Amino acid sequence: MSRIAFIGLGNMGGPMALNLIKAGHDLVVFDLAAAAVKAAADAGAKAVASAQEAVKDAEVVVTMLPASKHVEGVYLGEPALIDHIAAGTLVLECSTIAPESARKVADAARGKGIRMIDAPVSGGTGGAVAGTLTFIVGGEAEDLEAARPYLEKMGKNIFHAGAAGAGQVAKICNNMLLGILMAGTSEALALGAANGLDPKVLSDIIAKSSGRNWATELYNPWPGVMEHAPASKNYAGGFGVDLMLKDLGLAAESALNSRASVPLGELARNLYSLHSSQGSGGLDFSSILNLYKK
Ligand code: NAD
Repeated sequence: MSRIAFIGLGNMGGPMALNLIKAGHDLVVFDLAAAAVKAAADAGAKAVASAQEAVKDAEVVVTMLPASKHVEGVYLGEPALIDHIAAGTLVLECSTIAPESARKVADAARGKGIRMIDAPVSGGTGGAVAGTLTFIVGGEAEDLEAARPYLEKMGKNIFHAGAAGAGQVAKICNNMLLGILMAGTSEALALGAANGLDPKVLSDIIAKSSGRNWATELYNPWPGVMEHAPASKNYAGGFGVDLMLKDLGLAAESALNSRASVPLGELARNLYSLHSSQGSGGLDFSSILNLYKK
């Protein structure tokens, strides 16, 4: 069993760390939020006071942080975590960040002899808890193979998208589509409700018709339709509006850099931006339904 440093124990990192503990690994954990650290410590992890302390003697390092600035800050800031990680250590950077940031951090890590892959995930908090996440990996094939036994304890599907940063490109494309689909699903359900339909009945119909998608199958935005979806828990937990907004911003940035056209992605970004500006940034992203609801 390995000694694993796990940094970033939020909605996703928390349950991912628990699955590594359940698999028998020795976890040393750090997060800025004391409550998140306590939950992992209660499950058997060793809590330490800094990221630098966490990576001491670690064979594997996992980070699950909000955005590019946090990842660059942790690895390359002052103090720079890459100065504290031993050469040869395997680093799984699982946050969703800009491909340019992922490449910058991976290049700096490689310069120190550290083996780093970008391994953003898909599958939501439900997938993190169940250990059924999809990992979308960018980096060297041999580093992915070394990471596979750990990834398999947290996820079910593992894809190699290409070189460093490629995992992030694929993840950004996926999440742009997810943002569009959640807004579209909300729009359709609100239209049905405004015309007298029961949203649960309409959801059942769409789930077996050509409009079906991940939201109608697993993550319905209408409260009460799915007991375990964030919509039925006042949109608490889950995937935050501001995190979706970040990912749609990354899609817009990638589109600009590559001269690609993403009109629906841009429209979705504006909808989530409006929603966030109305005080909903911390709610689960399926609360975009509230923009449409009468
Ligand atoms: P979160 O906000 O719940 O958790 C992030 C954690 O990082 C927090 O506990 C925070 O305290 C910690 N943190 C921030 N800066 C830190 C630092 N410098 N040192 C240590 N800890 C620090 O976010 P989340 O929902 O867990 O998402 C994490 C990443 O996973 C994001 O990039 C997100 O886009 C991505 N993601 C989330 C979901 C989801 O459904 N929530 C799904 C797929 C991917």
